[in-house]
Amino acid sequence: MFGNGCKKLLPLKIRCPLCEQTAHGVGGLCADCWHDLPRCSPQNMFRHLKLPPQGLRYACSALWFQPPVTRWLYAFKFHGDFHYAKALATLLAAQVIAVYRAEKLQLPEVLIPVPMAASRLRERGYNQATLIAQEVATLLGIPLLSVGRHQGLRTSIHALNAADRKKALEGAFACNHAISHQRVALVDDVLTTGATVDAFAQCLGKRRRIIDCWTVAFTPPPLASLA
Ligand SMILES: [Zn+2]
Repeated sequence: MFGNGCKKLLPLKIRCPLCEQTAHGVGGLCADCWHDLPRCSPQNMFRHLKLPPQGLRYACSALWFQPPVTRWLYAFKFHGDFHYAKALATLLAAQVIAVYRAEKLQLPEVLIPVPMAASRLRERGYNQATLIAQEVATLLGIPLLSVGRHQGLRTSIHALNAADRKKALEGAFACNHAISHQRVALVDDVLTTGATVDAFAQCLGKRRRIIDCWTVAFTPPPLASLA
């Protein structure tokens, strides 16, 4: 059906970032890796946390943050492979639809990406949470609202448990915009202890509203249950 002229127009073969094999599958992954992704079941992921955030209602995540998802997100986050945002957002949006239907929940009125510290944003050039949120917003037809800022941390929180993270994140976020929406979803790449989204949610004001958290990946216990 295709002549030689058409063959010249076909895209170059690309490598699956997870197995290094030639990829013809979805989202830049090969079909096998896409099929074998460690997917979370549609449930409130806060049930896996010993100290779930007080101010949030529901956590929805698509994938367990374990190999090979860790490698995929690492490439997306640190190597500038931001073209993966669409595939990651597609997985998250599909999970959101499954969860909200099963639980008979109303979708949020607005999506808000979790801000990144200005110094890190300058260094990296993009906020991975914003890229994911933009794609999810388009897929689900929900407006995106970029509000709030991350004022930086005095110390890295990666090795800290939930209680110490909470302390380190006090005052880390600020928001000067009044938000009138009743239902909000905060979007990020990975949820570990929930301390970051909890701190960000608190800076959105004291008005009573329903705040959910959507992340592409969720750190499996026991790391998630560090308390
Ligand atoms: Zn693969």
